[in-house]
Amino acid sequence: MFYCAGNWKLNKSTVEAREYVRALRELAKSDEADNLVVLPPALVSFEVAAGLSGSSIRWGGQNCYAEAKGAFTGENSAVTLKEMGASFTLVGHSERRQIFGEPEDMLAKKVAAAQNAGLTPILCVGETQDDRRWNRTQEVIVRQLRQGTQAADPSRPLWLAYEPVWAIGTGLVATPEQVEEAHAILRRSLKEWSATHADETPILYGGSVKGENAASLATLANVDGFLIGGASLDPNEFLKIYRASKSAGA
Ligand code: PEP
Repeated sequence: MFYCAGNWKLNKSTVEAREYVRALRELAKSDEADNLVVLPPALVSFEVAAGLSGSSIRWGGQNCYAEAKGAFTGENSAVTLKEMGASFTLVGHSERRQIFGEPEDMLAKKVAAAQNAGLTPILCVGETQDDRRWNRTQEVIVRQLRQGTQAADPSRPLWLAYEPVWAIGTGLVATPEQVEEAHAILRRSLKEWSATHADETPILYGGSVKGENAASLATLANVDGFLIGGASLDPNEFLKIYRASKSAGA
């Protein structure tokens, strides 16, 4: 299986979201739909859920809170996402870590809350430009993985996304060597978390993936899919990435 998950970030109105899922459903062939995931902003989730009803294209949140309810103004719960029909939620996207200062102990609770609600958390890890320059990539991504999975249940699904911070939204793409090295490190580290489930845990790459660069990354041994930001905003471009990956042999 090769997956493409589209992170819309804070983009698309309700009307645009409705139009997007209508177009994606129309364009995606039935054997492609299973492998596609859209991650809309919380406020347009209803449109997406309604538009995808009866389709095997799945959707998820971009974030969720660690508690199901209570005095947490402005937050959204994993339980409600699940109730609305979501299958996934991102946890620890670098924009959440960097712009909103999400602490790592909170991310571990979010991963567990998502799993308990019946969602598959997509835990995002990745080094900054400085980390890479100072040879700290391995240390940083292994730490983020260990901390994020501290309370995770190995018998429930979990996905990982390796997203070097310097490659997100910048047009800079990690080289195939950098991607395979990081994914292999993560695969080995996952074995500490679960010797049985490490090999079947999808590890997605994210960072300026486009139709033009997808093929060279998609066929790497430990790359099981892509997490796509900017290029996922157009359903044609999103599918072009999926199709380029499949044609390359992913
Ligand atoms: C992302 O938002 O997770 C991402 C990878 O963005 P982009 O594809 O725009 O770099």
